[in-house]
Amino acid sequence: MTLARNIIIFTVTVSLVTFIAFFGRLPAFRNTPIGWLHSLLVVHIPSTLRKVDIKLTNGRITNGGSRLGHHLMYEKHLAVVVFFLGLVTACATLFLPAVWYLLEWHHKLLVFTLLPQPYLFLYLSATRNNEAYINTFNHAEQMRHYPYDRILYYPGNACTTCKFLKPARSKHCSICKTCVSRADHHCIWVNNCLGRGNYKWFLALLLSTTVLLAYGAYLAYIALSPLALNHYTKYERFYRSRSQATPTSSTWPSYLAVKCRRFFAYTAVYLDVGGLRAAGVGLLALLTWPLPCALLAYHIYLLWAGMTTNESGKWSDWQDDMAHGVVFLGRRSQHSMRANQPRARRPSASIRPAPSLPDTAPPEEPLTTWPLESRHVLIRTASGQPPQTLPRCIKAVAEEDVFERVWSLAAVENVYDLGFWDNVREALLH
Ligand SMILES: [Zn+2]
Ligand SMILES: [Zn+2]
Repeated sequence: MTLARNIIIFTVTVSLVTFIAFFGRLPAFRNTPIGWLHSLLVVHIPSTLRKVDIKLTNGRITNGGSRLGHHLMYEKHLAVVVFFLGLVTACATLFLPAVWYLLEWHHKLLVFTLLPQPYLFLYLSATRNNEAYINTFNHAEQMRHYPYDRILYYPGNACTTCKFLKPARSKHCSICKTCVSRADHHCIWVNNCLGRGNYKWFLALLLSTTVLLAYGAYLAYIALSPLALNHYTKYERFYRSRSQATPTSSTWPSYLAVKCRRFFAYTAVYLDVGGLRAAGVGLLALLTWPLPCALLAYHIYLLWAGMTTNESGKWSDWQDDMAHGVVFLGRRSQHSMRANQPRARRPSASIRPAPSLPDTAPPEEPLTTWPLESRHVLIRTASGQPPQTLPRCIKAVAEEDVFERVWSLAAVENVYDLGFWDNVREALLH
């Protein structure tokens, strides 16, 4: 019981800290307890330790730590890849021989199908860069994938490192040292940037890992349950003695305490009969399952909203500024929009066949294969008053006298949102 409780508390704590460290910075967690814990973990605690270290050792300890942290977070390395694949391999090597004789043939077949998938999809996420990385050879083609929405992306901006115009939805990655098409985020899990071309493999990695962990926990449960039944009497005796000692109460804390104790006791029985190799690995799979599952859920939300992780941060910035009343929306004049492109609509538009592209398209904003074009321009002003002078890229296309203050993102069209199923299809096909 004590061993089971310690294993559970340790694994849950490590999973929670990992989740907060990696995902707490996501815009979805802004102004939430997870966001606050993230800033506590990555900003306040390190800066406090740094101050103490400067007083005690003149900063020698934290200098080494920050170099290691910088290397892990901001340079290409295989540490997380090796850790993840090593963990999966070690768990499979411990777990499968311990329960193999207890499994039916169809479960054995499923194990052979599910186990290789995270390896395969991680490999594809890490190596399929042809479409994601923008270079001088594919730049012209990359410029034609997405239109500039004049909210998150404007035409005419060059990457100072790559020395070419940034295509819409692209972002320069200082770790990969290249501009990335439809940049989602740099993922240390796959040691690569996720963008057009390999994002679908990342989704497959998330899905296959989520399924594998759930299935591993389920296998441990069904393989060990017959054995655990033999120990049930021992468990019952133990549980009853604890229940009698606990006053009956209908309050939530008491109810949760009883449930937790029951879970710890059940886990102790399974650890008794299965040991760390079978029950321990199954428990680890169960407790770490929420990590890929939550990340998968977040990316399904992004697909539903028609945005990337990178864009979700930009939209959150706009939302914050709108709440302060300093954002103005202008409608693009008809003559500024491309004559042969359909106008933007709300989601659920079907993807249309690509229009033929003239060779004489202006280099800073060529015609694209995207079926929608933004009708809006957003601008934020420091004074909180409607804009008086506008940047060239906006001035060329906006009707300057129709700017109106907007308070919510609901008033703005997201031209990259085609509707959930078309967003999914677009992500899976490219
Ligand atoms: Zn670049
Ligand atoms: Zn990168």
